[in-house]
Amino acid sequence: MSTNRRSFIKQAAGIGSLALFGKKAHASRLQVSPDQFGVLVDITRCVGCRSCEQACNEINEDLPRKSPETFKDTSVQEKRRRMDYSAYTVVNRYENRNNPGMPVYAKFQCMHCLYPACESACIVGAFERQANGAVIYDAWKCIGCRYCMAACPFQVPAYEFSNVLTPQVRKCTFCFETRLTQGGMPACVQSCPMEVMTFGKRNSLIKIARERIKKYPARYVNHIYGENEVGGTTWMYISSVPFQDIDLPHLGYHPAPGYTEPIQHAIFKWFLPPAAVFAGLGGIWWYLKNKKSDE
Ligand code: SF4
Ligand code: SF4
Ligand code: SF4
Repeated sequence: MSTNRRSFIKQAAGIGSLALFGKKAHASRLQVSPDQFGVLVDITRCVGCRSCEQACNEINEDLPRKSPETFKDTSVQEKRRRMDYSAYTVVNRYENRNNPGMPVYAKFQCMHCLYPACESACIVGAFERQANGAVIYDAWKCIGCRYCMAACPFQVPAYEFSNVLTPQVRKCTFCFETRLTQGGMPACVQSCPMEVMTFGKRNSLIKIARERIKKYPARYVNHIYGENEVGGTTWMYISSVPFQDIDLPHLGYHPAPGYTEPIQHAIFKWFLPPAAVFAGLGGIWWYLKNKKSDE
């Protein structure tokens, strides 16, 4: 089948499914399991070496190939980077307001939310949370509407604009097929020379994080980012600096689909254009990030 024809069929199928079933945004039907996996990221240990970025590129063969030398270049950290079609994870450098001259580094990737807004927003079910915690994407179901990009509170999904014929949404897979289903840990976690990331059962990681914060109160902000944000995330962070300083936004504790679904439902009810999704969801995330914390 030619790619153009395949794209056409996918789009027609998506539109058809909307017409037939009145498909609306939906929250995940999968219960959150107390046994699901997670990763605790302790940014006080990160030295910004980019080994995790290299490991991610090596294990994800669908990403554009980059040479090992590429990842030795730390000058890229002079700018804030986001994940894009060529990278599922990036490490950025930030000024340290508590210790000027001693920067902090933070690694980002998909947070694998317990209540994923991307899954809720996708009208054809191309995102699906798994029992082990991974939120995975199925390119064959995707019709390219990019509602997931507008819905994600962490601005994670990227779009392959450079691929004219078969563009895909790109994001971290939690090494679901390459590692997790084989009984292994994510490649980036394993590659880190500073043991910044701890992989394990999410409940155990929360206990480890609490113990570290209690044992070294001067070293850590007394908060585990992701324990409760947007209903909880699979990847969680502890830090020596306020989380907003490292681009982890204040979002409140309500699951993200609770914010996004009313807009999605209105769009399908009133046939509003897709631009309304971006405007509506963008406004919600702007409001949440800028409102004073009440939690
Ligand atoms: S490999 Fe570890 S220390 Fe190096 S940048 Fe990644 S998280 Fe930081
Ligand atoms: S961080 Fe964004 S892309 Fe990742 S699971 Fe959450 S909503 Fe989806
Ligand atoms: S979990 Fe896997 S896909 Fe995600 S950032 Fe780490 S290595 Fe990349």
